[in-house]
Amino acid sequence: MTHNEEREESMSHKYSGGCDHVHTHSDNEPVDNHTCHCSVCKRVTGQDTTHVVFFKHGDVAVDNLDGMNRQPFNDQNPDGPLELCTCATCGTPIMLDDKQNRIRAIVPNLMGYDPAGLPATYHAFYDPATGAPEPTDGRPVHAGLRPDFVWPDPS
Ligand SMILES: [Zn+2]
Ligand SMILES: [Zn+2]
Repeated sequence: MTHNEEREESMSHKYSGGCDHVHTHSDNEPVDNHTCHCSVCKRVTGQDTTHVVFFKHGDVAVDNLDGMNRQPFNDQNPDGPLELCTCATCGTPIMLDDKQNRIRAIVPNLMGYDPAGLPATYHAFYDPATGAPEPTDGRPVHAGLRPDFVWPDPS
């Protein structure tokens, strides 16, 4: 109950997160929501798999864009489209921002969102060659993003 009261303000938005210094929210549904098995997510998050939620770029509002540092999401491909935005004050990861303005990506458990409110619908970038066991939770497993995923138009 106390937890809910504390979150009352943020609950006025459908989905919200961030840290004490930078707040993000979306009032629209994500365009994609997956459990990512890729090596970049593994390296950046230190987790075996990473729950990644894509929203349309224009659907994720940020109240303090200047309060974030930006670095390449994939440090081995620094010209890639995704930047990891972290709070300049406390270092909390805030979001992945797309230089092409198609999406903003949220990792709920690291970026202040409620993972239970945004369940992943499938497994992405699963590669049996890594030796990781094939997921057995019944959700579809793909070698990349789901085949019917379409990148949104830039906002
Ligand atoms: Zn990934
Ligand atoms: Zn912060």
